[in-house]
Amino acid sequence: MREVITLDLICPHCTVGLRPAVKRCPQCGHDVSRHSGDPTGTPSVADNWADHPAIVLGMLFLVLAALGLPWLWRSRGFSKRAKWFWTLVILIYTALLLWLIWMAIGYLVVQIEALRAVW
Ligand SMILES: [Zn+2]
Repeated sequence: MREVITLDLICPHCTVGLRPAVKRCPQCGHDVSRHSGDPTGTPSVADNWADHPAIVLGMLFLVLAALGLPWLWRSRGFSKRAKWFWTLVILIYTALLLWLIWMAIGYLVVQIEALRAVW
């Protein structure tokens, strides 16, 4: 007997991951019975703003970068494939961002050194 914990099943109230069979969220007691009967996850009207892909992606790119990846994986607004795709994109984006910051620091150091030589 295998025990499967599906990440697609998430409490809409507190976004904790749920086992497929549960009727109530073990963390907040929210009634999740209607979700467990629908494993394909037809997109219902998201009552949690973290489930909106545009908002999650906006936060990831503008604020959190790779720090927001756990959040992305908890969101119900993405398919598993989409989560992997965006994880990859965010990781590359974060690496690029860190590289840019590194280059900017290097540039500033060179500028300061040049100023020092003049003074
Ligand atoms: Zn809950």
